[in-house]
Amino acid sequence: MSATFIIGQPRVQDAIAHAASSGRVAQSYLFHGPDGTGKKAAALAFAQTLLCEQKSGHDGLACGKCLPCTKAQRGLHPDIHIYLPHPKDTNVSKISERIQRIFVNPYAQVDFKRRPSLDDAGKTSSGMVIYHAGYIESIQREFYHVPVEGTYSIGILVDADFIQTATANKFLKMLEEPPERTILILTAERTDTMLPTILSRCQHVRFDPLMPIDIEQALIEREHVEAQRASFVARMADGSFTAALELLDNEDIGERRALAIEYIRQSFSKHPDRVMPLIEQISKLGREPVKQLMGLMLSWVRDIVLFQAAGAAASLINVDQSEAIQKFVAGLPDADSASMVSHIEAAAQLIERNSHVGLTLTVLSDALSDSMRGNDRAQLFESLDSPAVVMA
Ligand SMILES: [Zn+2]
Repeated sequence: MSATFIIGQPRVQDAIAHAASSGRVAQSYLFHGPDGTGKKAAALAFAQTLLCEQKSGHDGLACGKCLPCTKAQRGLHPDIHIYLPHPKDTNVSKISERIQRIFVNPYAQVDFKRRPSLDDAGKTSSGMVIYHAGYIESIQREFYHVPVEGTYSIGILVDADFIQTATANKFLKMLEEPPERTILILTAERTDTMLPTILSRCQHVRFDPLMPIDIEQALIEREHVEAQRASFVARMADGSFTAALELLDNEDIGERRALAIEYIRQSFSKHPDRVMPLIEQISKLGREPVKQLMGLMLSWVRDIVLFQAAGAAASLINVDQSEAIQKFVAGLPDADSASMVSHIEAAAQLIERNSHVGLTLTVLSDALSDSMRGNDRAQLFESLDSPAVVMA
C-alpha cells in the first residue's frame, strides 16, 4: 500500500504538500486528533514526500515511483523510523512486528495499549504502556546520526502523550537541540495530558473525525468491501477508519444487530416470556459486546427517526433494513422515536458506568415499550441512576 494514501483530511494533505514543496519544514510536529483519523498515515506520507525525488504525486505529494518512495512504502527506508510506547521488557522483535504492520497499513490497530495481543483482540493489557527512559535514549542515539541516504532523517513517535513526566526531560533535549536535518513527528490522541514544554516546541496539525463518505469509499477501494456493507460500517465507525476495519473483522456484527432489533421488537410485546430470555442472552455476552449492541440499537432507532422525518429519501445507516424500518414506522404511528433514542443513550451511559446489565436492560425494555406506544415516562431512568444500581 502506498503510504501517501491518506483518507480524507484535505487540510492536512495541503499542509504536508506545501511544507515539502516550499522546503519550509519545522523540526518537530505534533499530529493530534481522535484515534483512527490517519495521524500515522499522514506522518508516513509526510516522511515519504520529504524523501521523494520527484514530489510529482497527487497535489505535490510523493510520486510513489522513485527509489526512495518504493523503499519508504515497503518500510525499508533507513531514514524513516517509527517508535511505539510499550510495556517494560517487551521483546524488541514484538515491537518491530507492530511497526512493520504500520508500514503495511497505518490505519491498523497495533498499539500495545488498545491491542495488547495482536492475535487475541479480547486480551487485556499487562504492564504500563509508556516511553521508558531506555527507549528514549535509544531513540536519541538514532537521531544523532546524519541521514543515511536522504535529505532528512525522520522519526515518528506514535502516541507521544505516553511520554511521562519522568522521561520528558530527556525527550525535551531532543526537541530543544535537534540534530541537523532531523524531523520529529509526534502523534497523540489528546494534548491535555502532555507537558506544555513539549507542546510549545511543536508545530501542531489537527486531525478531524473522518466523514462517513470518505470511510465508505476507502472501504470499497482499499478493502474491496461490498457497497452496502461499506455504507453501514462507515456510518457505524464514528469517524475512525481503524474502527471501521475492526467492525469489518467482527463477523458477529450482523448477528448482534439482529439480536438488538429482536430486543426492541419483543420490548413492544411486553411479554415477559419473550423479553426475559433475550435479556438473559444479552447479559451473558459480556460488557463490551453489550456496549456494541447498544450502539447497534441506537443506529436502528436513529434510522426510524430519519425515516419518520424524510421518508424514502432518508439516508439510512442500516440501508439493508429499509423495508423493516418502513414497516415499523407504518405499524407504530404513535411511536416516540426521539425518546427511544434518549432512553437507549441513557442506558448505554449506565452500562459504561458499570451498572447491572440485566437490570438496565429490563428497565430499558419497559421504557422502550412505552415510547413505542407513544406514552413516554421520562422519569423511568432516574431511579436506575442510583448508587445501588451503578456497581462494578
Ligand atoms: Zn518518489
